[in-house]
Amino acid sequence: MLRSTVASALASLLLVVPLAPAQAQVQAPAAPPRVPEAVGSGGVVSSIDPDASQIGVDVLRKGGNAVDAAVAVAAALGVTDPFSAGIGGGGFFVHYDARTRQVSTLDGRETAPASAGEDLFVENGKVVPFAEAVTSGLSVGVPGTPRTWQRALQRWGTLSLDRALKPAEDLARRGFVVDATFHRQVTGNAERFADITSTKALYLPVPPVGSTFRNPDLADTYRELREDGVSAFYRGGVGRDVVETVNEPPVDPAATRNVRPGGMTMSDLGDYNAPRREPSRTRYRGLDVFGMAPPASGGTTIGEALNILESAEPAHQTQAQYLHHYLEAGKLAYADRNRWVGDPSFVDVPTRELLSQRFADSRACLISPTSVLAAPVAPGDPRDPKPCATTGEDAATPYEGTDTTHLTVADKWGNVVAYTLTLEQEGGSGIVVPGRGFLLNNELTDFSFTPVTPGVPDPNLPGPDKRPRSSMSPTIVLHHGKPVLALGSPGGASIITSVLQVLTQRLDRKLHLVDAIAAPRASQRNAATTQAETAFLATGEAETLRALGHQFTSTAEIGAVTAVERLPDGRWRAAAETTRRGGGAARVVWPR
Ligand code: GLU
Repeated sequence: MLRSTVASALASLLLVVPLAPAQAQVQAPAAPPRVPEAVGSGGVVSSIDPDASQIGVDVLRKGGNAVDAAVAVAAALGVTDPFSAGIGGGGFFVHYDARTRQVSTLDGRETAPASAGEDLFVENGKVVPFAEAVTSGLSVGVPGTPRTWQRALQRWGTLSLDRALKPAEDLARRGFVVDATFHRQVTGNAERFADITSTKALYLPVPPVGSTFRNPDLADTYRELREDGVSAFYRGGVGRDVVETVNEPPVDPAATRNVRPGGMTMSDLGDYNAPRREPSRTRYRGLDVFGMAPPASGGTTIGEALNILESAEPAHQTQAQYLHHYLEAGKLAYADRNRWVGDPSFVDVPTRELLSQRFADSRACLISPTSVLAAPVAPGDPRDPKPCATTGEDAATPYEGTDTTHLTVADKWGNVVAYTLTLEQEGGSGIVVPGRGFLLNNELTDFSFTPVTPGVPDPNLPGPDKRPRSSMSPTIVLHHGKPVLALGSPGGASIITSVLQVLTQRLDRKLHLVDAIAAPRASQRNAATTQAETAFLATGEAETLRALGHQFTSTAEIGAVTAVERLPDGRWRAAAETTRRGGGAARVVWPR
């Protein structure tokens, strides 16, 4: 019903809305429908965008595997969801190999250029205001996404980069129908986009809902990568344009904004690597939960929170008690994340200790069923866990953007990919590389500009070639070595809690996967107040939680989860949002 409403709304808009001149001579085919659930066989895809998910199942139908489809979907999201994803950004790729039953990960996080010191965001002794750093060359990290695609395909794929990028190139050339989310994202960024000539030329005036949006420059860039491989990006012409744009952002002469340049070189690009990393692994009620290890904080923080909940028996609690424990576990795990997690090549991250049950038990004993822990709470010491002890000062959670995208794929052989990719802020740095059709990230704003809590060691300060800590949490759950569930979400720091909430609602509370995703969300990140969706605050449980001492701030939406799960009869379910971000797009090759 939802889909026919959306389709007819779009159809009527096509008739009445005048089209923006640059983008709209020929209409794109109508967007495939948005559907939050698809069940069947032959392979499944779930993403936030119907064109992208459709491209994914087409790849699977033609015999491609989950990795081929994941790269094709990601490239398509670079076209239709360009404010969250694209070759100007980075991400984390988690892969389950059905043959070896191994989970592996690729770290495609952006790196700071060699010129970036600890004082990257300090100018004349003063910290650069966050709002100014966001739209700057200074905040652009060396993109990791093209290298991630290349490495994933080489290691596990069957398609060449040439073939995997072809559908996205075609989509960028032929165009797609602008939906309400795309329209809202450009509108929300219009002011800063207007200050960068290349961004203004591509995205302004704001394309109306229902119009066709084409990106021939991006299509040409994809073609260059198809023909010349990612060396076009890391050593060739695309890379030179990236470096030039970072170091000399194309600022409109009329702009009053101070758009600071960065200091990136071709060697920074040439040195970029997307290393394989050991996944994080947590045993939870007979399941193995695999996630992304540092520099992502998703794996250790979700793992620690699950270990804390292990003793709480969420399956047997009232809904309010379950939520209370979920929020308190998030609070404690976040305190430890902020104190201990950074780029493991630069700081000694106690990953294994953070994931130990002994450490989690030493934290779980701080939780009371009848009252709320005063936040922020101080971190524990995972290297020397003492029951109910905290150590040092509390470490607050810094702000992170909320717009990223996550895709989840499984193929007919049982291979699975959970892949989260981002530009950091919605629209990244706001800087399109002229003539190339893609936005550059502002991922380096994920570093702490100065130590978050004075006097507390901060593992996330900038440094040359360092990767900023991430909250991205692509997750794959196995039972006896076989996949049962995979998921992830955008949402900046709230990614971790969204994934944790959906995991526990599905695994412990036994909600249907689509309901677990649709359920109202709340996110506690070691702050005095818990961020909660308006719908959450309207529930009876919110009242009970308030009586326990929880305080809330309200927000319209938290996250945009996509997931797949294997059913006991061998079929698969793809699941996505019913309404957040306009609803997601679940697809299966053979619906059954
Ligand atoms: N930059 C954030 C991270 O890596 C993600 C931002 C988002 O979800 O919008 O954790």
